[in-house]
Amino acid sequence: MSELRWGPVDQQWVIFAPERAGLFLADPEAQLPDDPASCPLCPENVDAAAKTIYLHPAEGDWRVRVVANRYPALHIEGDLKPTGVGLYDRMNGVGAHEVVIESRDHHRPLAELSVEEITGVLATCRARLVDLRRDLRLRYVTIFKNHGGDAGALLAHGHTQIIATPFIPTLPRAELIHARDHFLHKERCLFCDLIHQEEIHSRRVVRNDDAYLTFCRYASPHPFEMWVMPRRHQHDFALLTDGDLTLFAAALKDALRRLNAVLGEPAYNFALKTAPSPHPRPGRPNDWSTIELDYHWHLEIIPRLTRPAGFEWATGISINPTPPETAADYLRRA
Ligand SMILES: [Zn+2]
Ligand SMILES: [Zn+2]
Repeated sequence: MSELRWGPVDQQWVIFAPERAGLFLADPEAQLPDDPASCPLCPENVDAAAKTIYLHPAEGDWRVRVVANRYPALHIEGDLKPTGVGLYDRMNGVGAHEVVIESRDHHRPLAELSVEEITGVLATCRARLVDLRRDLRLRYVTIFKNHGGDAGALLAHGHTQIIATPFIPTLPRAELIHARDHFLHKERCLFCDLIHQEEIHSRRVVRNDDAYLTFCRYASPHPFEMWVMPRRHQHDFALLTDGDLTLFAAALKDALRRLNAVLGEPAYNFALKTAPSPHPRPGRPNDWSTIELDYHWHLEIIPRLTRPAGFEWATGISINPTPPETAADYLRRA
């Protein structure tokens, strides 16, 4: 069983997941195992490998399938039992850890799926987000992808992951607080302001289709980092209509195509940043009370081109060799 521990020095939660002890990094040069016969996400094996949580479509042959992670960081069963341990805090490792199998085909990564197929993947993520938010123990749902061994993927078959936590993780929380502070001072959405500014200067814009803006952000810690953001203010990914999802799928496919064209199919991660679960908190009626106005969901895509080393680990400061204006120039022309 996993355990969550919070320490007062860095003031963040850590997940201790003994079931993942076998997943330490081995040889970073090693290729991901790529035999469909032994792939737990292929249609022939998935029934035996993992518990199914969701199918898309619900009837007939599935095109997208959500299964429980075989090595879960967190478990859906049990009570949190938050406890103070002297200066420290702990909770049981309650949460969800799901794998979204993006297609039946072992050899077709997300970037090679059609816009319609990617829309199905995104609709599945939206459905899981809505469902996991019904669980009052869970406060934030992180939807993310590891593609390629250098990005932390352990399987070659295209998949996205979902981890729901009983707290808002450190980085999304910082972003939510910065957006809220901006709104308190200016009564405007930070991200809407950012879109406005990037569109005026346009040197970091990669693509703009009126619905979604793809750009390299001004102070991006990672080379060729791209954000895809709805141009219309919208705080929550769960609110997207099917039409919105199709346009977003086209923007995502385009961003991955450009990344592959410029960088030769790099390993990459993406993370969807969206509003936290809107549960009322006893005694804290003002928690995220302006979220609908102050936050703006978006997707962050990071190709894994550099490896964080001692300085980054010691300071949290990134050293980025590629200015975002240069990266955007390459990506725009791809
Ligand atoms: Zn497979
Ligand atoms: Zn906005």
